[in-house]
Parts: sequence; structure tokens; C-alpha cells
Amino acid sequence: MLPVPLPAELPAPLPAPATAAQLEALAADLRAAGLEPLRSAGELEGLAADAFVYSPVLQPLLLGRRAQIGVRLSDRQSVPAVAAACARHGISLTLRGAGTGNYGQCVPLAGGLVLDLSGCNRLLELDADTGVFRAEAGILLADLEQQLQVRGREPRLLPSTVRSATLGGYVAGGSGGIGSLRWGFLRDPGHLLGLELVTVEPEPRRLALTAAAARPLNHAYGTNGIITTLTMASAAAVSWHQLVLEFEGWEAALAAAQQLPAAALLLQELCLLEAPVAAQLPWPQGCPAADGRGHRLLLLASPDALPLLSDWLPELGGQLLWQAPQGRSRGIPLRELSWNHTTLHVRGRDAGITYLQLLLPRPEGPALKALRDRWGDDVLWHLEAVRSMGEQRLACLPLVRWRGREALAQLIEQARAMGCILFNPHVISVEDGGLGVVDSDQVAAKAVYDPDGLLNPGKLRGWLER
Ligand code: FAD
Repeated sequence: MLPVPLPAELPAPLPAPATAAQLEALAADLRAAGLEPLRSAGELEGLAADAFVYSPVLQPLLLGRRAQIGVRLSDRQSVPAVAAACARHGISLTLRGAGTGNYGQCVPLAGGLVLDLSGCNRLLELDADTGVFRAEAGILLADLEQQLQVRGREPRLLPSTVRSATLGGYVAGGSGGIGSLRWGFLRDPGHLLGLELVTVEPEPRRLALTAAAARPLNHAYGTNGIITTLTMASAAAVSWHQLVLEFEGWEAALAAAQQLPAAALLLQELCLLEAPVAAQLPWPQGCPAADGRGHRLLLLASPDALPLLSDWLPELGGQLLWQAPQGRSRGIPLRELSWNHTTLHVRGRDAGITYLQLLLPRPEGPALKALRDRWGDDVLWHLEAVRSMGEQRLACLPLVRWRGREALAQLIEQARAMGCILFNPHVISVEDGGLGVVDSDQVAAKAVYDPDGLLNPGKLRGWLER
């Protein structure tokens, strides 16, 4: 088995930060294009932050990394001017949506310029027959959702950061989330149907890529092209109902998490929280607080699933604690208790907690039991139902008490030995956060669209190793 990659230093080689003369020349070019360079310490700090602090491995490597200059765009027609200026002066360029990534995806490792695209935020087209839409990369996912919903559609997949993240950042830096139970992951063929791209060259090209040509840019951390618009499939809108179920026994709760996604029920989200995790979360208004004894299963279900669920629940060994239509409840919505929002809430009470991301082997019970027996209260369980390679599976984002690198490496090794697939959130490169292998198409795309290697240096291992 490959060694557990927990980096102790930044990737190398990284380009040198820009010199004062290079920065002045860049700033002059930006002003000539009618753009305002951002240079104050506060602005640069804000443009470099993301949620890497969830990882005590990444924290010491990424804290304090800053851009040397920033630009915020509200018109995507200005993107080529920024790309051209960076290419002419040989300055690295890191793209930014909302900066909610968990692995320092948009933290510039080698200074240079950060380009914030969150002002390029329009829904451009929606085909009423097919539901295919085209939107600017910086559109806030909640705005996209709202604009699709009024026309009877909804995004297929959303991160639990739907209220803060952008579409471009989600495709370039995220992977799945709410909807993954039904629709799998963002990199599955069929979600991203095309994109508009600006290359980083002295004379930037604006290219329209088909679904196949767009694939290497999907989940590439903005290392191989500047995405300005995305064309994606949507789903028919559903009036999702939020349900909180409670189970006394872990085995019954796990069995329900296995059986519900396999039934002919339309579900958009299923999240299982072990009792000590549930006890640390805020709950929607009207939902009883958790007392640390019951395991909680959160569902987003279509209205026609509700009668069957209420009949089936006693047999499954659970009880319904609370339900409300999504968008019409008060307090925290259920989707902000799922995916990495669970980690966010638990870390809000105890910053000594970090996490992992695993796909459990099937059947899940034996691996979970072995891990629970070995790690006890140091690892608390949060499971998510997903569709992976066409099969219903359970993923998990266990909450891990930080006891140092060695203990984390041992946990990862045991999980892998039990058949879990690791999506490591404690690494810097695109490849190490996935299956660990270089995707030669991503590297080839970078050679064509970013020939001088200026985009987000250090994040694509295949480029460093080529
Ligand atoms: P950023 O963080 O700004 O950027 C992400 C990456 O994309 C960076 O590498 C950036 O350089 C690149 N990028 C941004 N814009 C462009 C562009 N136009 N062209 C090319 N590259 C670009 N992720 C999930 O997948 N599912 C979840 O459920 C989920 N839950 C989360 C919960 C919490 C509490 C937190 C903190 C994070 C969570 N994440 C999740 C991670 C993160 O929210 C998602 O990856 C998110 O969608 C990123 O969007 P963003 O706009 O913040 O992107």
C-alpha cells in the first residue's frame, strides 16, 4: 500500500514571488485596462483565506501565504486583460470564487496575483426543454438555485456551502455534496457539459470547450485555465422535505442508512450522525435538541416519499423527530448540518477536532466496527449516502481528535487496510486529494492553456513532476 501522504513542506519547485518592478508594471497594465489593483494588507489577507484551518497538517504550511496584488472583476470581458498582464510579466495567477475550499485550493503558494471572479455572477441561459443552463463562473450557488427554481429546475448537486460558494469554485475545487446520493459526483460525465475558458498567454485566447474537452478542467483547482462560464445539466425542481429521524441503536441507524437509498424513494440527501456528533450540532427551530443518546438520520425527501417513510420507520427502528419543507423552516436548514458543515459546527465547539473523507467498503458494518473498536471516542462517525460509479454507497467524514501526524497516519492506514478509499483532506495537490494518481489530461490541458505554468503554482503535482 502507498505511504500515507501527509505533507511536511510545500511542493517544489515554486516560482519566486514577483519583484517590486514586476508588480509595478503589472499594476500599470491593470490600471490601463480600467481595473483597480488591490494592494492593502487587509485586502490581500482576505483574498488568500480559505477553510484549510480544518487541517492541522495544512495549517502550518498555508497560514500567512498571501498574494502580492489582487483584482476583483465584475465583468468577465476583463479576464483576458488580467491574464495577458500576468503572462507578459511572468506573474503567477490564482483564481478565487468565494474561498470556501478546504485544502487551501485558492491560497497562493508563490505570491503573485489573485483574481476574484465572484462579481461575474449572471445566469446567462436556461433551455426550458432540456434544463441545460449556462452561467458565469462567479455566480453564488444560492442565487443560481433560486433563479433555476423559479423556472422549475434546480442544480443537481450543491455543496453544504450553497449559501456562500460559487459555481466555478465548486466545479474547480469541490466534488459533490447534497444530491450526491442521486447524482454521484461533479466529475461524473453528464454534469459539466461545456465551458468557456480564457488561456494565460500574452495574447489570451477565449475558447468554448465541449463536455469532453472540459473534463480536464473539472476539479483541477484552477491550474489549467480560467473558467469564465459553465454549461451544466440541471434537475426538475422538487419541493424537498427535511426530516430528522432518531434511532436508539447504531446498528439500526446504519441499516436504515443502507436501506433507504436502495428503496424507490426520491431522496436528495441522507446524512447519519452518531449520537455524540448530533449532540454538538445546532438544530432547526422546533426540532428537539439532541441529548447525546440518539443517533440522528437527516433526510431530504420528495413529498411523495413521506407516507411510505412514516409507515416504514417503526419497522426500521427509528422515530420521526421533526419535519418541515426546505426553505420554509426557521433556524438552521438541514443541509447546513450535513457534509463538511458537520465538521464546521463540531470544530466551532472544539478546535482540536479535524476530519477525514472516506468511501466505505461494502458491507460497511465490519470496517466501521473495527474502526470504532480501535479508535473509540477519538473518532466520531458522520456518514453520507452517495452514488459512486453507479452504485449506492456510504461515504463518511469522521470527526477525528487531533493527536498528531502519526496517529492520523495510523488511522488512515487502518481505514485503507479495511478497504476504505481515502479522499485525503490534509494534502495540497489535486492528485493527492483524489486517488493519488496523475491525470495526464489535466497536465496536457495546462501545457496548452497555461504554457508558462502561471496558474495556481504548486497545486498540480503532475505538472511539477513532468
Ligand atoms: P474557491 O474556494 O474560491 O475555489 C476553489 C478552487 O477553484 C480554487 O483552486 C480556485 O483557484 C478554483 N477556481 C475558482 N474559480 C475558478 C474559475 N473561475 N476557473 C478556474 N478555477 C477556479 N465541497 C463539496 O464539494 N461539497 C460539500 O458539501 C462541501 N461542504 C463544505 C462545507 C464547509 C463548511 C466548507 C468550509 C467547505 C465545504 N466544501 C464542500 C468545500 C467548498 O465549499 C467547495 O469546494 C466550494 O464549492 C468551493 O467554492 P468557492 O467558490 O468557495 O471556491
